[in-house]
Amino acid sequence: MSIRVGIIGYGNLGRGVECAIKQNNDMELVAVFTRRPPQEVNILTETAKVYHVDEVVGMKDSLDVVILCGGSATDLPKQTPEYAKYFNVVDSFDNHANIPAHFDEVNKTSTENGNVAIISVGWDPGMFSLNRLYANAILPVGSDYTFWGKGVSQGHSDAIRRVAGVKDGKQYTIPVEAALESVRNGENPKLTAREKHTRECFVVAEEGADLAKIEQDIKSMPNYFADYDTTVHFISEEELKKNHSGIPHGGFVIRSGKTGWEEEHSHIIEYSLKLDSNPEFTSCVLVAYARAAYRLNKEGHKGCKTVFDIAPTYLSAKSPEELRKELL
Ligand code: NDP
Repeated sequence: MSIRVGIIGYGNLGRGVECAIKQNNDMELVAVFTRRPPQEVNILTETAKVYHVDEVVGMKDSLDVVILCGGSATDLPKQTPEYAKYFNVVDSFDNHANIPAHFDEVNKTSTENGNVAIISVGWDPGMFSLNRLYANAILPVGSDYTFWGKGVSQGHSDAIRRVAGVKDGKQYTIPVEAALESVRNGENPKLTAREKHTRECFVVAEEGADLAKIEQDIKSMPNYFADYDTTVHFISEEELKKNHSGIPHGGFVIRSGKTGWEEEHSHIIEYSLKLDSNPEFTSCVLVAYARAAYRLNKEGHKGCKTVFDIAPTYLSAKSPEELRKELL
């Protein structure tokens, strides 16, 4: 029998999870739950139905795991501890500073009710965190480097759109090639924010707006742009739509380590992602961890976990026996 999955929240991730389930034969999408009127939300899976989120608890016995696809700012801090009372759940909570507090909240309700919850699943946090952990455990003496991009930063794009005179805008974070090269050569450079990334902005200005002032306001914005070399391009609304409507992202996690006693040797571990669609990829990770949540719960586990706590075998659709044959 396939794993019966529910989705709560149907935005970019919700749609991505729906696509990802289609690629996993051991899983089946049963229902999508939304806070909007269900008739306004059109899903693609013909065998699944859209319900109002108030109906989800009533479907407790029809779902093995629920993937929470709300936003990290205000949805998940409420939704994950609440729905972990009733279901095995997985979320993509990415508010780094608040992960420990989120863990505690979710751990309480999931443990009390005998469910498994896996939080902060995705690529960052998620696959990047896991690869940093593996690399640090293997090479305890060394330095970590994380580069992001080339990709769209939602936070920086929002910041541009708040500048007076800006109608719309997109921001790309781009790693500095020379910095990447130096790290890959084992030079262990000390890099400032400016030396690691540049920021490129595509801005649609309101009619008659002072372009020089907009550019200055963006480039001098503290926290977001002031510490980086930033380029601002003014483009038309049509151009923004045509060339910048995608949500690509990715990056590099690199550990540069040393081993040896009298003679020293250098080692570089690199994990990289080049994603055409940030939400579709994040959703693929969520679905693999949903499988793990379901399996762990079947084995009697409960409580909150992160990607650090899940053994790789639980993620794979293959059995442990099949996987062992692939060790070599
Ligand atoms: P969206 O803004 O697309 O969706 C968030 C919620 O908004 C949805 O669940 C939906 O809830 C509601 N919504 C979506 N579209 C509409 C609409 N047209 N009208 C009204 N409401 C709508 O966010 P994303 O899916 O792009 O991202 C969700 C979170 O995922 C982000 O906040 C981010 O923190 C996290 N994330 C994590 C990553 C990681 O690596 N860990 C990577 C990428 C993202 P409802 O259906 O109930 O209305």
